[in-house]
Amino acid sequence: MADPCELCPRRCGADRFRDGGAPGWCGAGNLPRLFRWGPHFGEEPPITGERGSGCIFFSRCTMKCLYCQNSPWSWRGAGEDKSVTELADVMRQLAVADRVENWNLVSPTPYLPFVREAAHMLAKEGVRLPFVWNSSGYERVETLEEYAGLCDCALFDLRYSSDETAVAASQAPGYAASARAAVKWAWGRGGGTGALPPLVVRILVLPGHADEAIENLAWLATEVSSEVPVSVMAQYTPAYKALETPPFDRPVTEEEYGSVTEAAADFGFGNGWVQGFEASDPKLALLGENMGADHGTVR
Ligand code: SF4
Repeated sequence: MADPCELCPRRCGADRFRDGGAPGWCGAGNLPRLFRWGPHFGEEPPITGERGSGCIFFSRCTMKCLYCQNSPWSWRGAGEDKSVTELADVMRQLAVADRVENWNLVSPTPYLPFVREAAHMLAKEGVRLPFVWNSSGYERVETLEEYAGLCDCALFDLRYSSDETAVAASQAPGYAASARAAVKWAWGRGGGTGALPPLVVRILVLPGHADEAIENLAWLATEVSSEVPVSVMAQYTPAYKALETPPFDRPVTEEEYGSVTEAAADFGFGNGWVQGFEASDPKLALLGENMGADHGTVR
């Protein structure tokens, strides 16, 4: 592992991979910190499969979203530092005891070197599962290339199309360009494993910013492909700093959400899912059809 850290687009250059090194902007230090892990049955159907997806929620995050529902561990770092051997123990438990379908790395970017080392240890024992790289999409292509072995399926958000919003809401300069490049990379390399597609793009509709979700869908359809599986999500709930920051202090309206689901259909996205509007009805229907599947909150 080499300092300075430039794993995410922020490239803060922290000297963090040594004893006594300073944590990075994201708060990550020289050990992987985990908040929780376990089988999860609320992901998109090919990711959940029959036995659930083995989610590993990492503490810290490369963005700071003012509406984050996971702020105790994403902003404030709740969780437990693990050695690489302990991280491998967690992954082994998920694979062997829980028999999950895949390892679902939730916001793993600051810890990729440790995950790769743990995966190598397990591979020597013959313990292998496909990896889902589950993130905000705020990624560097160079990092994706280097850690491509940890990305059988990219489960990436396309959250903003405007840098102004990305900075105001998530302190993420250059988000749109980074996330779009990451999405293009994941689709361009093809692959996928078994039932897992190489890429699923999540479109979380944000209050007051439905236009950005539509812009991202338009970009995806024209610059990448309308064959990309998209997951349009209505589950935004004001939390944390959003409670005092309009327009993020309110849920998405039915009209806003409808404008995005209509756009997804108009742009020809047929491989994907759309959540029911009512928060109490967290169902995913296949885009263009009327089939449902349970779908819970992921982050
Ligand atoms: S992952 Fe964290 S430490 Fe590394 S460049 Fe990004 S913000 Fe800095």
